[in-house]
Amino acid sequence: MQNPQISIVIPVHNEQEVLEILYERLTKVMDALNRPYEVILTNDGSKDRSAEMLNEFHKRRPKQFRIIHFNRNYGQHMAIMAGFEHVLGEYVLTMDADLQNPPEDIPKIIEALDKGHDVINTYRMNRQDKKWRIWVSRLHNYFRTLIAPALVMKDEGSMLRGYARKIVDFMASTKETSTFIPALALTFAANPTEVGIAHEERAAGDTSYNLYKLIRYNFDLVTNFSVVPLQVFTMVGILISVLSLIFVVYLFIRRLVIGPEAAGVFTLFAIAFFIMGFIIFGLGIVGEYIGRIYQEVLDRPRFVVKEIVEEDRD
Ligand code: UDP
Ligand code: MG
Repeated sequence: MQNPQISIVIPVHNEQEVLEILYERLTKVMDALNRPYEVILTNDGSKDRSAEMLNEFHKRRPKQFRIIHFNRNYGQHMAIMAGFEHVLGEYVLTMDADLQNPPEDIPKIIEALDKGHDVINTYRMNRQDKKWRIWVSRLHNYFRTLIAPALVMKDEGSMLRGYARKIVDFMASTKETSTFIPALALTFAANPTEVGIAHEERAAGDTSYNLYKLIRYNFDLVTNFSVVPLQVFTMVGILISVLSLIFVVYLFIRRLVIGPEAAGVFTLFAIAFFIMGFIIFGLGIVGEYIGRIYQEVLDRPRFVVKEIVEEDRD
């Protein structure tokens, strides 16, 4: 059997409302390209009818559609990672199942890969999301540029992206249990580029991310790719130590000159509370890193594939 040239990897978590439209639009775009391709869909522990629908796609096009079923939910990036472990094509594209990035933009990504770029990041030219979501992204983008300048990309939210196979193999070979694929790709890239794509409202269904998940996810992103928070904490710690020392010397001299006095207790409390707060915050940051180390040293399989539905290859 001839290997496909293009592999499209799509994570799926409770997307029964959109899968059929996805199938229609994706195959239409890909068939028109006239290049051999495959679609790998990872069912990330869906609880709705997504699993049966995906298997049905495989029945319709057994050679092109390969379905990976997880035993439970591991998150979008692990679902993509599982796809990466099985791709056959030289070009690998990722996209969301919810059609927020139109499949019609896929040719743009392929064109960039044809030009020899190895990582194709994308930015949404007309973002259609809830206000708070856009705001959180902006804030996060700002901090990310500050904290991990190596990972500069205009936009990280859209998952319609393209990678040369070599980059994908590198990514699949990392054993990290939580990661952010577009950022990881950049650390391996030699010739990355960015292209603008359209962005639509979710075709149907609802986002799997809430505010808490989003904050967690941003912490993960930062601790995964940078130790700047630890360094900032150390620097501020040094600063506070120096200031406290000056303060202590000042109070000591006052004690000698003016004698014992009790005024200013509340100011002292305020300062003490501020510093305590800072210490607790710092413990939290250290904890984030330790938690990450803990997860990695457990060395459990990062996901469990229950079943792969695909055509036998020879
Ligand atoms: N997804 C997944 N596992 C999850 C959450 C999401 O595989 O635990 C998939 C989801 O089916 C979709 C993509 O990841 O294809 C993006 O998810 P979503 O649209 O909910 O995120 P948003 O667009 O709000 O960032
Ligand atoms: Mg979405």
